[in-house]
Amino acid sequence: MRIVLVGAPGSGKGTQAKMLVEKYGVPQISTGDLLREAVAAKTPLGLQAKAAMDAGQLVSDQIVLNMIEERLKAPDTQNGFILDGFPRNIPQAEALDVMLNRLQKPLQGAILIDVDFDLLMQRITGRRTCVSCGAVYNIYTSPSKLEDHCDQCGGNLHHRADDNEETISNRLRVYEMQTAPLIAYYTNQNKQYTQEGNGEIEEIFEGLCNIIDSLPLLTPQKEDIETAISMEESENKTTIMENHQELTTFDDKSKEKAKETEVTSEKKAKEAPKTSVKRTTRSTKRKKKEATTMAAKKKATATKAKATKKKAAKKKAAPKKKKAAKKKAAPKKKKAAKKRK
Ligand SMILES: [Zn+2]
Repeated sequence: MRIVLVGAPGSGKGTQAKMLVEKYGVPQISTGDLLREAVAAKTPLGLQAKAAMDAGQLVSDQIVLNMIEERLKAPDTQNGFILDGFPRNIPQAEALDVMLNRLQKPLQGAILIDVDFDLLMQRITGRRTCVSCGAVYNIYTSPSKLEDHCDQCGGNLHHRADDNEETISNRLRVYEMQTAPLIAYYTNQNKQYTQEGNGEIEEIFEGLCNIIDSLPLLTPQKEDIETAISMEESENKTTIMENHQELTTFDDKSKEKAKETEVTSEKKAKEAPKTSVKRTTRSTKRKKKEATTMAAKKKATATKAKATKKKAAKKKAAPKKKKAAKKKAAPKKKKAAKKRK
């Protein structure tokens, strides 16, 4: 099986993934783990990733994709994989499709573990961990009998400071904003599946297994592979640049980065002939195919440079907004902190 597992924080995705790994004998490929391992092992990709992080930037999509591709060469992926934590947006999903098609391992499905918002809040905000032995409790669903102390060792139970309602609801909102377009993307491909995740672990697991066992086998079409290869050749560089920009939007150093990119794109724009072609929505397949000739390539570079400039301009305005939002949010946080005390 070749699936992407999607679920909010607190959805039980991690638990389910472990159970699936055991039953189906396929690895769970978590991009977070891949990154940490590659950096620790100082592989070439790991070093690239570390350089980006040391510079205060996020690791580019291309580096992450290359890590996934490298991981997929390991023999334990022979029967498939469970992708976790990637993709998080449409450009990543598109790039993933291209790469998997080229490897002739197309995704069979994206499976969402869907849990009600209120339940997610309960699961996360109610979480208490024993300081001494690490036992986990939940004041709503599985409370300790001794209230503030661990049933097993009597240790103090700790409530993580960032497990408060405000932080969690923000995290959940970010998750929803990221996930909604992805669900639409996979729905369009008829690859979207949803498992309701409010019930018991075993019940949810059974549902997931039923979905997985009925996934279509999906052999890659020759045309898809060819398209994938030509798309990667023609669009690789510009797409990476753009994706990288999107990734660094929320980064503190994004302003600097934007300036840098602006300079390089200006150079490129000068080299390329001027064009009045307006850039419409990115990435329709047709457009990508057209971009294979040299002329089209140059055109794309020029228009993308324009778009990059626009983005950079937007970014310059962005930090102000952020600050304003922080100010607004600040008093609430203080109150919440007092309450907890
Ligand atoms: Zn304990």
